[in-house]
Amino acid sequence: MNEQLHHVIKSIDERQEELLNLLKTLIRFETPSPPARNTKEAQDFIAGYLKELDFSIDQWDVYPNDPNVVGVLKGSSSEQYKSLIINGHIDVAEVDNHSNWEKSPFDPFIRDGRMYGRGTADMKGGLAGALFAVKLLKEAGLTLPGDLTFQSVIGEEVGEAGTLQCCERGYTADYAVVVDTSELHIQGQGGVITGWITIKSPQTYHDATRRKMIHAGGGLHGASAIEKMTKMIQGLQELERHWAVTKSYPGFPAGMNTINPAVIEGGRHAAFIADECRLWVTVHFYPNENHDEVAKEVEDHLLQLAKADPWLREHPPTFKWGGTSMIEERGEIFPSLDIDPDHSGTKALAAAHENVLSESPKIGMSPTVTDGGWLGDAGIPTVIYGPGDLENAHAVNESVSIKELIQFTKVLTSFIYNWCHTEK
Ligand SMILES: [Zn+2]
Repeated sequence: MNEQLHHVIKSIDERQEELLNLLKTLIRFETPSPPARNTKEAQDFIAGYLKELDFSIDQWDVYPNDPNVVGVLKGSSSEQYKSLIINGHIDVAEVDNHSNWEKSPFDPFIRDGRMYGRGTADMKGGLAGALFAVKLLKEAGLTLPGDLTFQSVIGEEVGEAGTLQCCERGYTADYAVVVDTSELHIQGQGGVITGWITIKSPQTYHDATRRKMIHAGGGLHGASAIEKMTKMIQGLQELERHWAVTKSYPGFPAGMNTINPAVIEGGRHAAFIADECRLWVTVHFYPNENHDEVAKEVEDHLLQLAKADPWLREHPPTFKWGGTSMIEERGEIFPSLDIDPDHSGTKALAAAHENVLSESPKIGMSPTVTDGGWLGDAGIPTVIYGPGDLENAHAVNESVSIKELIQFTKVLTSFIYNWCHTEK
């Protein structure tokens, strides 16, 4: 290893107080989502931090008071050397009830080698480690020939388009690391798409017409949208079972590709036959599947089913898939992320991990979803790699191991340096 880099990595142990203070600062910015629209101060802080390290800053509102920050540190020989995106989200999981917490979730403290506070594991720990890594390289005068892009995005917890907008604005690189919760495993992920299935009757009938609608000789060709939705729910269960039996993917237990009927809304009043029913579903799929295809499979199945019902045949269900916010649109998409263990970036990250921890990293699949899918969707080879574990993410008294945070910072420092010194 480069002598100077070796020195920088060693210095992280002596300077861990600085790293921990940086994480504390990030935790103190209260950025839970929902309610969201509260990240401006935190993002200003990160923009300022990066600016001092000579990054050029692009900051824009995704929503009012929820800006994205993208910092670009132009390499000295961009054309010849590999570029890197580091991506992390500044929002944290919501806090239901502060009183369940030992201390305020936004008042971080350290005990027995762990730091406690909302976002320590998911994922301000990853952000702090990554920011500190960049700072150390800069301070040591280790300039990078390849471009380094740092994305601090909003809205990940509620499926908002923070990372998607970075991709749409054209930010790209030869490799990306999403420093979200992964316990220092190198991971891809399955995907999630939510959707609304609606059954709607063109006529609204009074409750008193029900006899005519359901009994011999009644002569009224109508239906309760709620009752018809039960057929759709059964159909979804059949499809879910079919998928569980026929689809699989290495790194996932069988049957991870579930279809959850999560929310149902319907009917207007007890004096009417329900003329509309809406079902909100959450569909999980494997890394080798695409959210559009999966949504199409669900639609095809339910439309076939509808054809076998005399009323649904004429009033088939309609579908609305995805959305860019669980808060604004009651819908989200997390594209899946396939990873290639043989990609040169993944190999370089694994090598950096091995150097610091003296063991090779576990490479596999995250049981949850992150923004990594958007970067992958944009054609950027991407992995998830960050400190913290999922038992702590979103949990009461969330915490992160300080040892793991330091290891992460060392690995990332080494990886950034080496990858941005790799010739294209
Ligand atoms: Zn996260």
